[in-house]
Amino acid sequence: MIRPIVRYGNRTLHNPAEHVPDVTSEIQTIITDMIETMYAESGVGLAAPQIGIPLRIFVADPSGGQDDSRLVVMVNPEWIEQRGTQREDEGCLSVPGFSASVPRPLHATIRGLDRAGTSREVEGTGILARAFGHEMDHLDGSLFLDHLRGIRRDMMLRKIKKLRRSGKW
Ligand SMILES: [Zn+2]
Repeated sequence: MIRPIVRYGNRTLHNPAEHVPDVTSEIQTIITDMIETMYAESGVGLAAPQIGIPLRIFVADPSGGQDDSRLVVMVNPEWIEQRGTQREDEGCLSVPGFSASVPRPLHATIRGLDRAGTSREVEGTGILARAFGHEMDHLDGSLFLDHLRGIRRDMMLRKIKKLRRSGKW
């Protein structure tokens, strides 16, 4: 089921998500919905807080659904390693219409549980490493905007506020 995506300003997005105690069938349903929602929105990653669920789960697929083998499901992920830095323009389904370049690891390894509850280690380079950085941030209640400083950030926040006031957010 495709779920509505919550946007910047929604409380769930700005608080750290909680540890998943067990990969139950309810959790598996959430994961399936997250994958469908990510593909429906043409995203390369989606974290559970983005559909209003405050749990440490994310999905990512750098192929955007073109190649099943590239789909990554992570429950309770933790960093194993981060190397190098890349700065590319990135957006977020929870901040539609905005993008900015923020520093992300060039190579990253994370460990977490997959959809079956099995522990997995996944290594990412390039766009996948960037997605790991972006989605791990979501689980800690942080968005790409939070990496920006000064006038750039102020301008985006002002525009978002205006959109919210006019009911377009
Ligand atoms: Zn995002």
